[in-house]
Amino acid sequence: MLKEFDLIEDFFAGLTQKRTDVDLGIGDDAALCRVPPGMQLAISVDTLVEGVHFPLNTAARAIGHKALAVNLSDMAAMGAEPAWVTLALTCPQVSETWLRNFSQGFGELARAHGLQLIGGDTTRGPLSLSVQIMGLVPQGQALCRHGAQPGDLIYVTGTLGDAGAGLASLSSELGLNAEALDFVRQRLDCPTPRVAAGLALRGIASSAIDISDGLLADLGHILQRSGGLGATLKLDALPLSTALQQLPLQQAQNWALSAGDDYELCFTISPQQQAKLAELLSDTAHTCIGEISAEPGLFSLQNGQRQPLTKQGFQHF
Ligand code: ADP
Ligand code: MG
Repeated sequence: MLKEFDLIEDFFAGLTQKRTDVDLGIGDDAALCRVPPGMQLAISVDTLVEGVHFPLNTAARAIGHKALAVNLSDMAAMGAEPAWVTLALTCPQVSETWLRNFSQGFGELARAHGLQLIGGDTTRGPLSLSVQIMGLVPQGQALCRHGAQPGDLIYVTGTLGDAGAGLASLSSELGLNAEALDFVRQRLDCPTPRVAAGLALRGIASSAIDISDGLLADLGHILQRSGGLGATLKLDALPLSTALQQLPLQQAQNWALSAGDDYELCFTISPQQQAKLAELLSDTAHTCIGEISAEPGLFSLQNGQRQPLTKQGFQHF
């Protein structure tokens, strides 16, 4: 049976790279890191609880990946460069196989983003994970929720609704082919945080958020934080994966509007910046889905018709 100290040593101490801005990492009462002059520290924490944020019996490797991915996504949404991370792990018993797979999923993603694991806590109890991430952003350049202006264009990265379909596929038959089913489950378990896109959007996006709770909910945060604005969304423009295109259009659009867990970015830019955006985001799929309005509320635009986008309006399923 592993003791806490051995567990940390075996699975976490050497898991990630050593950064030159870390003076003291795992092993002391606190880590010591240096924030370069002119930079702001961006800090975010997220907790995942088994049975709430991921289904029971999710593969350990996927849990390790997702726990970090959702935090990286917050850095992306702020335009911050991920730097350091801490991990508070509560698990029922020490299973070496589980820990190995978990730390593999976590470590692989951390290394891909140049993150150093600098500390954490390990306790016994029902499975839950808290990951705190810290990133760096040049003073005043962070992407915030509060900067959208009437007339700004609304964009999203990637495709929407995939994770929602992935979750639904665990309990019902959606009629997707095997490849599509694989794809939506992968999107649910192993989201790709849009870190490079977030960095590219510094200085051009007027506001940004990552889509964790669903487009309408998260765009709603931008509208509210930007002083009570509204938005008109072109439903036909919602980016749907080839997997979701196998579903009835309305069902796919409903997931794209309201399902969570895709971890794509939603951001706004002034229309004058469109050409520059195409240049800056040439490596990331992105789609204009609508426009910010001074009139509060959410509206849909379909076949030239502008209508209030009510909950009843899109939740047919
Ligand atoms: P303390 O009792 O002082 O909080 P711990 O015994 O909990 O210290 O942890 C010892 C060291 O290991 C600390 O540096 C802590 O940050 C680190 N640590 C503990 N658990 C983890 C973990 N799951 N991942 C990474 N570092 C951890
Ligand atoms: Mg401790």
